[in-house]
Parts: sequence; structure tokens; C-alpha cells
Amino acid sequence: MKLASFDDAGTARAGLVRGDEIFAASALVAGAPDSAQDLIAAWDRWRGPLEAALKAAKGGKALGAVHLLAPVPRPGKILAIGLNYADHIAESGQKTPEHQVWFCKQPTSANGPFDPIDLPKASTMLDYEAEMVAVIGKECRHVRAADAKNVIFGYACGNDVTARDWQFKTPQWMLGKSFDTHAPFGPWITTADEIADPHALGIRGLVNGETRQASNTRHLVFDVFAQIEEVSKVMTLEPGDLIFTGTPGGVGIAMKPPAMLKAGDLVRIEIEGLGAIENKVRPEAA
Ligand code: MN
Repeated sequence: MKLASFDDAGTARAGLVRGDEIFAASALVAGAPDSAQDLIAAWDRWRGPLEAALKAAKGGKALGAVHLLAPVPRPGKILAIGLNYADHIAESGQKTPEHQVWFCKQPTSANGPFDPIDLPKASTMLDYEAEMVAVIGKECRHVRAADAKNVIFGYACGNDVTARDWQFKTPQWMLGKSFDTHAPFGPWITTADEIADPHALGIRGLVNGETRQASNTRHLVFDVFAQIEEVSKVMTLEPGDLIFTGTPGGVGIAMKPPAMLKAGDLVRIEIEGLGAIENKVRPEAA
């Protein structure tokens, strides 16, 4: 199934997508949570009834007529791995890391799949990173890679938007990765059962229609399951937590000359089977 969140007259509601329509979960089955996070946490209970109701449902809202929000509007955690595709490591002038390189994007950076990305007042080096996002479905700790499938709710397209000047002015990348609006993802979460192999998906990043990044998730250095094993050694993962799984080569900073994002640019991230997100760059509001 495809789980989205949308603005329903000022209220964020979890909805299920069928074709070109979206149906509020709570309209499909009485009592189903309106919070995507709550719905993910209780998915074992609601999944069957929702699936059955969705098949027969009539009178959905046209997808084109609703404002899609971040599928999990306020994730508890946004974890992200760096240097995780060989071509991106090479273009960054780095060596393949022996250990997984992790950083956080703050939960306040979460953004909708078609909402604007801020060109920050404080940065002159705005960049994009096409990434597959894994969404955690179950509270878990110390998950072995072989069992990681069991804790993944689903997958989405994401853009690990980055202020390169802030990323590189200190050894810690967190600030450069955490500006408001800089973690757009969606357009919905495709549940893991619909993705035969998350490590065999074409991924592309485009700016104003020009393909800048084109790769496949089979080229991840550390695959998604190994990522979950590593971070769950450290912390409890919770339903709705996001993992940005790394970006392939072709980011703006590595172009010759560098091509940083500017106001008006349209950034599109598309992943085979997961749809696409499109975010326009606009100057940060006064
Ligand atoms: Mn990244």
C-alpha cells in the first residue's frame, strides 16, 4: 500500500493512495488513526481492514487536488548515512569509509514532497542529494541485518538537501544538513511488501529537467539492512523514524564548475517503484 499524509482543511491526515486518488484512513475504517506515525505503529492491527476497505472504496479525493504533506509530518528521528555510493565517494575525494558515517537531520527539516525548499539566508552553497528513504515500522534495538526487513515499514524518495558551506565549516555535518525544509520526502511511503528488492531500484536526481544523478540502489556501499544493524546497536528505532540511505554521484558541489542551487530551481528525485518528489527552491521567508 501507499501511505501519505495530506492537509484536510487544516488537519494532517494519514491517507492511502489508490491510483490517482487518496482516501483518509479514518474515512476508510472508523477509528483508524489520522496520524501517520500512530498508524505505522499500529499497522499490524489496521493493515487488513484498510486494505479491504480501500479495494471497495469510492469517492476518494483527487491526488492532484490535495496538498500532500511529508508522509510522516514530524518524524521522531531523521538519520542519514554519508559517503555510501562509490561514485559519490570518488567525486568527494574521499576513501570508502571503513565504518558507516552517520549524521542527523533535525526533525524540523522534514518537508512535503512538493513543497518549496528554502534557499537559506545564511548559506550560499545549497545542494541536492537524491536518496532512498527507509521508514521504520517497529520499535526495535539490536536488529541483525538478516532481520532488518521485519522492522522496515516502507520506502520513499528523499532529498538530503545540504548547505555545503555549513557542512564543511566544522567536522560535524549536522548543521549543514538540518536547515528547515531540507528533508523533503515522499510522495508517499510504499510499504515494504510491494518492493521485491530495495537494493535494485533505479534512482535519479534532476535539476530543471536535467539529469544530474542516475544510479541504482544496488550500488549502496552499506545496504539498508546493514545500516539498520549499525544504528540499532546505538539507539532504539521507533515507528516513523527515517533513514536517508545515501546519495550517488552527481551532486552540484562536485560539478566542474560547481553548480549550486539557486532560487527558482526545480529539483526532482525519482526512484523506480516509489514515485517522485519535486521541490522548488525559494528564498527563505523574511
Ligand atoms: Mn546524503
